[in-house]
Amino acid sequence: MENSQFPWRTDHRSEKVKPIRVVIVGGGFAAVQFAKTLRKQLRSSGCEILLFNRENHMVFHPLLADVAGASINADAAAAPLRQMLPGVSCRTERVERIDLASSEIEFADGNGAVNRLQYDHVAIACGAESNLGIIPGMTEHAFAFKVMRDAIDLRQHVVRQMENAEAATDAERRRWHLSFVIVGAGFSGVEVAGEVNELVRSSMRFYRNFRKEDVSVTLVHSQDQILPEVAPTLREFARKKMEKAGVTMVLNTRAVAATHEGIELNNGRMLPGATIVCTIGTAISPLVQHLDVPKERGRIRTTPDMRIEGHTNAWAIGDCANIINAVDGKPSAPTGQFAERQGRQAALNLVRILKGESSRPFSFKALGQLCSIGGYQAVAEMFGVHISGFIAWFLWRGVYLFKLPTWSRRIKVALDWAWDVIFPRDLSFLNTDAAQHLTHAFYRPGDFIHRQGELARVFSVIEQGEVEILQSKEGSQEPVVLAVLGKGDFFGEGALLGNRPHETSIRARTAVRLGQVGSALFSQIAGSFSPFRDLLSQAVTRRSGDFWRRLPFAKSLLDGETLAPLLDPLPAKPLREETTLADAVKALNESSTGELLVLDEKQRLWGTLDRGDLYQMIARIAATPTETQAYVSRRKLNELLPGNPVYVTLEDSLLVASATMLDHGISWLPVVQSKDDLRPVGSIRGEKITNRMIEKMEHTQSDQARAAS
Ligand SMILES: Cc1cc2nc3c(=O)[nH]c(=O)nc-3n(C[C@H](O)[C@H](O)[C@H](O)COP(=O)(O)OP(=O)(O)OC[C@H]3O[C@@H](n4cnc5c(N)ncnc54)[C@H](O)[C@@H]3O)c2cc1C
Repeated sequence: MENSQFPWRTDHRSEKVKPIRVVIVGGGFAAVQFAKTLRKQLRSSGCEILLFNRENHMVFHPLLADVAGASINADAAAAPLRQMLPGVSCRTERVERIDLASSEIEFADGNGAVNRLQYDHVAIACGAESNLGIIPGMTEHAFAFKVMRDAIDLRQHVVRQMENAEAATDAERRRWHLSFVIVGAGFSGVEVAGEVNELVRSSMRFYRNFRKEDVSVTLVHSQDQILPEVAPTLREFARKKMEKAGVTMVLNTRAVAATHEGIELNNGRMLPGATIVCTIGTAISPLVQHLDVPKERGRIRTTPDMRIEGHTNAWAIGDCANIINAVDGKPSAPTGQFAERQGRQAALNLVRILKGESSRPFSFKALGQLCSIGGYQAVAEMFGVHISGFIAWFLWRGVYLFKLPTWSRRIKVALDWAWDVIFPRDLSFLNTDAAQHLTHAFYRPGDFIHRQGELARVFSVIEQGEVEILQSKEGSQEPVVLAVLGKGDFFGEGALLGNRPHETSIRARTAVRLGQVGSALFSQIAGSFSPFRDLLSQAVTRRSGDFWRRLPFAKSLLDGETLAPLLDPLPAKPLREETTLADAVKALNESSTGELLVLDEKQRLWGTLDRGDLYQMIARIAATPTETQAYVSRRKLNELLPGNPVYVTLEDSLLVASATMLDHGISWLPVVQSKDDLRPVGSIRGEKITNRMIEKMEHTQSDQARAAS
């Protein structure tokens, strides 16, 4: 291994030895051990240690499930870094960038100013992030389980669901509030399921409106066994014990989408649940993503002594690094156990290098595995011995108590656990008002976003996809599609402004992502920002619901009438996404209607273009001052138009087409084959629908006159 690169620096003017500066990025298992070991080995006069972490505490992840299950308080599982690390300068700042070439880090201080700091050595220990984006809808509807906030939020939510269930008058809704779905049955999934199950079932005696049968806690796992990391006998023990305690296992099954109602499985089944916890999916931290160094599946590749390949003064440890273990020649597991050892051994290697000695490769034989499964039960594999049941649970608690970073934490956790054995779990929760929130939601095709007659809770803006506005006919349960809304459209404002229940239902026509503003926040914005208020009042007067209420006969004339006879045919040469602005203007001038369709490479509808769009495109170009005239005319439509136009399908009625035009304030619409086949078949114009309506009215009147005579 290499010899010293950075002896203690000498200031030649004063001939005084300057301490070297070591910067640590992160404050988790690896970073804390690295800092502790280095501080023990090197005096402050010889080495300045700065630790940058986003939070001012270290999170003890193995106890997060206990926080979520209310068996310990959150502060017991979070240790303040500066109290844990005397002699280390702890900075609660996020490192934005590391420049390995100039040995500098860049970070934003509390006031938003960007600062740079030089180092002699840097240790990157920024862990990994949770990534709910791997399954549609998880980001909007599931709890991640990685940071302290996740555990606190989950605990609040679980207790809120029990309160909601107590108040529910509808039995199905009550069961939904009491259905908890946990995705992923690795260590954290199993521990969360065990704790949530214990919290809910042990607290049932304090509620009068629900029974044991109403509660369901379900673990969904893609493999045929839970806890794939432990021995088969222990897995089997854990499964049986958890099932006996009331946890349902759905194995060999994947979650494919999450919605407000629950999760959709790959076998097509919908698993309802007001609480979804997603313990799968990790992502590389953005800091590591932007680092131009060799990586293995996103993790930083290191030399055996844990320095980043190709660098002599940069170290990578913990979950963000791919470190080969000399014991078995395999990459280290992303666990706290390994991260701690890496932190310690990397710090010792740095000391060796500073002393001019050789560094050593990382080497560690894992001690074993421990997993609590709820109900005073656990499974453990320690030094090759398998233990399960109450003794394993006692061992689990003992080991983690001992592993906690400070004595004050150990005493706090011990007291919380003792309290939990004697007294019931704490059911208080902070009532954060959902009406004040800005959130996101995901719906699958066919899901109802709200139903006619329900009270309005949110104002929604469509970020992606389309919805249908539906209205039930008097005396009939079968709703009629009134109109279609697409990207950028909004709904819910009428009921919120009028403080009345929804007069229409909204159903997802495709997969839909919404931005949602809670009712109280919406009222504040609508009350204080006049441009927004004006936009809303225009929408309310334009909305087709009111129009049809005033002209009920027009509605019944158009309902059920098909679009096909009134379609304008497709132009011989539709535009393509890549058509240049110059060619598009030419085509528009030659068009008899002044309205054109734009297709993608699979001949599906991508956008529409009319003269109004031309002005918008020119305004967009004008906002980019460097554009030359020649370049402007070569700009492509997909650079200038937003795409995703609103459309109707051949299966829709004239009522849907005319109401959609009314809602959008437009006079024509593209028509595609079907919801699943977006190849256009023509377009439909408002004036043709009006003519058709007048024709039908005349027929009806003459039929009535004939009948009367
Ligand atoms: C719920 C759960 C339970 C677990 N249970 C166990 C268990 O029982 N046993 C076990 O061995 N392992 C367990 N693990 C895994 C273990 O927690 C991780 O392997 C371990 O935390 C990795 O340590 P680390 O130091 O690499 O990263 P972390 O502990 O994740 O710490 C990384 C730190 O870096 C900070 N950070 C990130 N980016 C920046 C930035 N740009 N600037 C400043 N700071 C930044 C973060 O805020 C964080 O504090 C569990 C994990 C979870 C989520």
